[in-house]
Amino acid sequence: MTHDERAAALEGIAEEIRACTRCRLHETRSHAVPGEGSPDTEVVLVGEGPGSNEDRLGRPFVGRAGELLERLLGSIGWRRDDVFITNVVKCRPPDNRDPEADEIAACAPYLHRQLEALDPTLVVTLGRHSMGRFMPGARISSAHGTARPADPATGAAGALVFAMYHPAAALRALEIERVSFEDVAAVPATLVAARARREGTPDPVAPAAATEPAAATAPAAATEPAAAALVVEAAPPAAPVPARPAVASPSSPDAAADQLTLFQGGPR
Ligand code: SF4
Repeated sequence: MTHDERAAALEGIAEEIRACTRCRLHETRSHAVPGEGSPDTEVVLVGEGPGSNEDRLGRPFVGRAGELLERLLGSIGWRRDDVFITNVVKCRPPDNRDPEADEIAACAPYLHRQLEALDPTLVVTLGRHSMGRFMPGARISSAHGTARPADPATGAAGALVFAMYHPAAALRALEIERVSFEDVAAVPATLVAARARREGTPDPVAPAAATEPAAATAPAAATEPAAAALVVEAAPPAAPVPARPAVASPSSPDAAADQLTLFQGGPR
């Protein structure tokens, strides 16, 4: 698929999402949040669902959780425009409740089609609901920081899936924030492993290591500047991680109800 074909496919899916009435979440949304990012990226980040700021703006991860996500990406030299960011459900569950099973099922075809169009090399799940789509039965307390092959039925045939905590969970607990920075440091090496797996060259993430921390599978690569591992508009490998401009705190009076507090069940 060419760039133009991918961009057109993604926009077509986004238009369907914005008009979607497949589940009850359309009744309470202000804006659906299809997702955004580079159509040419190798990396797709999948969160859980929009919060109030996302619902207000129709964009994913624009509140405090989004600010932390940008800092996490910045720590490996990546920008949010380098990847594609979307969610499992595209409309905000009222009062930030967990989405119901039938709502997740109704929305699943959109994520599947987005992944088919993007054909990512690496999918990074953010939070246990997202991880549950790609690593059924896994517990995030043990699966975070690990990678495994994606089930082709997810739409990401040929990709590796790497699990991380949701940034909102990291905002609630300093230890999870610390672990999240450790985990994201392994993402570039996991992308390298995912590329090798796709190309059929020796795979640094061997099946037996799929349940081990990804950083341990390629420690040298994990410390490489991330720009070296990302094909899209990568900075020179020796370049220092660029400073990220501060992201303004959400000004909405209900900012506390954005993705920060979505899915109160938290990590397991
Ligand atoms: Fe449609 Fe998904 Fe929104 Fe439900 S959550 S109305 S299935 S886009």
